Amino acid sequence: MKNYMFLAILLSIALGIVCGIFIPEQMIAIQWIGQLFINLLKLIVLPLIFCALVSAITSIGGMKRLGSIGVYTLGYVLLSVSIAVAIGLFLLNVFKPGVGIPPSLILANATPTDLKPMAFSSYLLSLFPPNIVAAAAKYEIMPIVFFSIVFSLACLAVGQTATPVISFFVGLRDVLIKMITWLMVLTPVGLFSLLGTAVAEASIEHLLLQSLSGMILFILIFLSGLLLQFLWQLFVVAIVLRKNPKQFISNASNALITAFATSSSMATLPVTLMVAKNEDISDDVARFVLPFATTINLAGTAMYEAVSALFFCQILGLHLSIPAQIGVFITAILAGMGATGIPEGGLVTMVMVLRNVNVPASAIGLLLPFDRILDRFRTMTNVWGDLVCAATVDHLQQWRLKNSNHRAQTR
Ligand code: ASP
Repeated sequence: MKNYMFLAILLSIALGIVCGIFIPEQMIAIQWIGQLFINLLKLIVLPLIFCALVSAITSIGGMKRLGSIGVYTLGYVLLSVSIAVAIGLFLLNVFKPGVGIPPSLILANATPTDLKPMAFSSYLLSLFPPNIVAAAAKYEIMPIVFFSIVFSLACLAVGQTATPVISFFVGLRDVLIKMITWLMVLTPVGLFSLLGTAVAEASIEHLLLQSLSGMILFILIFLSGLLLQFLWQLFVVAIVLRKNPKQFISNASNALITAFATSSSMATLPVTLMVAKNEDISDDVARFVLPFATTINLAGTAMYEAVSALFFCQILGLHLSIPAQIGVFITAILAGMGATGIPEGGLVTMVMVLRNVNVPASAIGLLLPFDRILDRFRTMTNVWGDLVCAATVDHLQQWRLKNSNHRAQTR
């Protein structure tokens, strides 16, 4: 099935490009197929974000019990995801790969309602709507995010009686993930149409080569960002944790290869747990930190969300002010958390980041041909981050225990 999908995707890319160049009018006539694919993605994203965030945040209930381990984990995750997004935004602002790419590549697939400009003050007000259902119906994602955070905190505060509510949303999340797996079977068809339309627009306007070099630059910048994210964490392993970096990488390689092969940090979790054992990370720490980090520590994904949003804005010539970039920073972190460690989960939640900067969701079509391969690299980065997170928390925990024992002895 996997090999068949891979071949089908390669074929649809080739067909999309060829048809876009040679029969552009016909490709533009069937652009509704790509729109249908985007609609299906958008259909799932709203309930998925709600359920994924509720599942992730309510698992903090376990964190409270685990005390310091929970706090260290959360601290590490927030720091590492923020650094990842900051690296991505920095690189995009410096190299500006989107400048010079024709906006028609994005606008070719956009529906008119996709592009609604919004003033900052009305954006702020829209985060707190009087009616959450009405906001959902209007496809306002950020109010849903805020609502799910407060809802999860309330579930935690209520305690025992809220357990069935939490289980319901965890179950619903799994059902939605299943639906995404089904939807992904349609990727070749969606890809064919979206890519074909984009190429058709570009070839009609003779802009193909100009856009290809920008896309390649974008991919190289993103991969360099992932490499930087890998390196600073390697630095933590060597300098802070005082572990042999070569040994750590060689132990981690099993998990990294599995991540590359499956494109899913969730599916890699059993291997990640095994690596933690080989690295002598205590069972208590690994059993809590790794599943939790797998759900929310998606630094590679969060970086992808941020750089893509900025890339599209550059293509469209939308200048993002510092507050708007802070908005991208926050939504990218949340979208990373909502991506749930499944293949191309990040692609689905990207709708939320794009919505935040008023970029049409159909812009995703531009990334689709490359997403499968980019997904493999960001999944590796995510899994690498989970392992370093577990090792760091273990280190801090041992340091804490040593200190408290020492204090008890000197008393
Ligand atoms: N596939 C990624 C993961 O499992 C999520 C994503 O970026 O799409 O970590």
